[in-house]
Amino acid sequence: MSDSGLKSRALGLLAKFYGYRSFRPGQYEVIEAVASGRDAVVLLPTGGGKSLCFQLPALLAGSGVAVVVSPLIALMQDQTAALVANGIPAAAVHSNQDEEYNRRVLEAAFAGKLKLLYTSPERLLLDLDRWSRLDISLFAIDEAHCISQWGHDFRPDYTALSVLKERLPHVPVVALTATADRLTRDDIIGRLGLRDPYCLLGSFDRPNISLRAYSNPGMKARMKFIAELVRKYPQDSGIAYCLSRDGAEKTHAALSAMGLRSVCYHAGMTADARSRSMKAFLDGRAQVVCATVAFGMGIDKSNIRWVVHNNMPGNIESYYQEIGRAGRDGMPAEAVLFYSYADVITLRKFAEESGRQAVNLEKLARMQAFAEAKVCRRRILLSYFSEERDCDCGNCDICRNPPSRFDGTVLAQKALSAVMRTGGTNIGVFTLNNILRGMRRSDIVRAGYDRIRTFGVGADLSQQQWNDYISQMIQLGVFEIAYDDANHLRVTPYGMKILRGEASLTLSTYVPPQAAAGKKQRREPAVSTDPVKQLFEQLKAVRTEIARKEGMAPYLVFSDATLLEMASRRPSTVDELLQVSGVGERKAVRFGRSFITAVRKFEGLSAASQQGTSLRETLILFNAGVQPAEIARIKNIKLVTVHTHLARLIEEGMISTYGSFISRKEYETITEEFERNPEGAYEALKERFDQGIIAIARAIKKSKSVAEEKAED
Ligand code: ADP
Ligand code: ZN
Repeated sequence: MSDSGLKSRALGLLAKFYGYRSFRPGQYEVIEAVASGRDAVVLLPTGGGKSLCFQLPALLAGSGVAVVVSPLIALMQDQTAALVANGIPAAAVHSNQDEEYNRRVLEAAFAGKLKLLYTSPERLLLDLDRWSRLDISLFAIDEAHCISQWGHDFRPDYTALSVLKERLPHVPVVALTATADRLTRDDIIGRLGLRDPYCLLGSFDRPNISLRAYSNPGMKARMKFIAELVRKYPQDSGIAYCLSRDGAEKTHAALSAMGLRSVCYHAGMTADARSRSMKAFLDGRAQVVCATVAFGMGIDKSNIRWVVHNNMPGNIESYYQEIGRAGRDGMPAEAVLFYSYADVITLRKFAEESGRQAVNLEKLARMQAFAEAKVCRRRILLSYFSEERDCDCGNCDICRNPPSRFDGTVLAQKALSAVMRTGGTNIGVFTLNNILRGMRRSDIVRAGYDRIRTFGVGADLSQQQWNDYISQMIQLGVFEIAYDDANHLRVTPYGMKILRGEASLTLSTYVPPQAAAGKKQRREPAVSTDPVKQLFEQLKAVRTEIARKEGMAPYLVFSDATLLEMASRRPSTVDELLQVSGVGERKAVRFGRSFITAVRKFEGLSAASQQGTSLRETLILFNAGVQPAEIARIKNIKLVTVHTHLARLIEEGMISTYGSFISRKEYETITEEFERNPEGAYEALKERFDQGIIAIARAIKKSKSVAEEKAED
């Protein structure tokens, strides 16, 4: 097929099934490569649009099924549900389903009834002989970084996937991941044995996610902060990540006590409890999930508006992947990181025990530098992924509130002197903070630190301020942390110079965490006066209702971005609805009328006058190749009604191919009967034929004679 032919077919499928009008940069090139049998590697950030890179080639393939390898059942379920909602036949084989069901799924694949088949690496490899007899259009290896020892999420099962290219060298393999560092990338290609793969290295920028980082202000302040975020986005949800299970439980308890709808998620919970939490989160009942890193891979929920890290993650890859779960719909989202030295100490311990000490300590150091940075955070992130920028982003805390500087020499001297007077190697950050503020804690009194001259010299500053300033001092090399000696502080030679007055120190002014952008905004009325926003809220309510009725997650009905576009375009017919990005044919027919009704009501039009809509919907589905019985099921109407629609469409000349729902024989029997016995034919036929089929035969006959008359003219 010519290049332009392939492209227009691809665009046609994109519009029809997904409701999108164009590809994102790079997507089509991968699709083209894979469709022509070439291997590919796709590196795009979370939310970057990786799925289309294998789903469209799967649709473009004339026959065969795309086998998608995925590390997580939740991810398989989510993706297959999204595909089915779009009218694409997809299913999964995994251990959370009974074996009978798995068997039927495989059977359907063998019968050529599936376009995409998801499974785990174990499953695929365990029974590869059988699977390789399938007509496989391509292999997609999702979360492909799991194959790499260099990655942050190595899974031994993945390494055996190298056998795919050996056993089935002609089936193209497309590997996809959101991890971009070069080592991992090369490792993926080598281990999968890809041959001259087409590589898409997309931009890792997620400009819609605002970035902030604060030194940890303590549990209470953090909870208040999260509660404010929840109130800021009452209809949406967020994730509060914690380093430990205990931390997740405590955060959950604290937020619940504040009256927020929170759930907990970590690996220490039973599978059942976890899936209940997941469900509550996905269908929007929970406003926040308090979770460890066990939560989130493959979460495709598009309306996550914020991610808070209660602790610092161990490396930038994990951090970026975790915040990347917010704002997948491209609308503004917030990422907030709280970090502390206690986190660094815990993470160092993990890294040291990891068996890959050097790599992990280095990764931790980069993460810490990001957290403590006083320059544009996005530039740091992107440069980590080898994507240097020459200008600041304007959407991080540093860009928005450039830190003001002050001469911190005296503050540093106070801290330095406290460390020296307690022996020079005997205290950590926590004790130093307490000494400076003159806290008469029992441990301090016992050690006699309340009697040193520096005790209480910093009482004019808060604990948070001192925490932040001490962090900055460590970062700037005034102190170092003796990780091998109870994490105590040690004064560096530079610190000694400051203490003796031979050097000075500039610090950045402490900025307290603030959830809302400004005090004024919080006073915003609950009900917006902007008509687009008003309608948007109403459409969201319609979506919630549909999701509840259909038992599916709201974001699988339509994404926020799609609803927002709907609110501004205000479609009042199915055809106008189809113009909205994200509305494919299947969803337009299945859910469209509820939204159109809401729009019409909002505009003061009568909801009822959607004349011809049902007929139009039938035509859309018919053109999409959906069989009459399936049309009836999707639209929840009787089969005979569908047939009656089809008859009318034939009469109006809107349909000219009808071989699939009426046979030549049926047509001839019916028309002959009408010729022979015009009066009694209907009575005679209705025993044997569905009333709709009779109508169809007559409509065909009628349209044919019209055509013949025209030909004679
Ligand atoms: P990833 O797998 O890379 O994390 P997805 O494939 O889930 O990302 O895509 C993220 C979001 O972007 C989804 O809601 C998807 O429907 C949307 N999307 C992908 N490609 C396009 C496109 N060409 N036009 C509009 N939206 C798109
Ligand atoms: Zn910035």
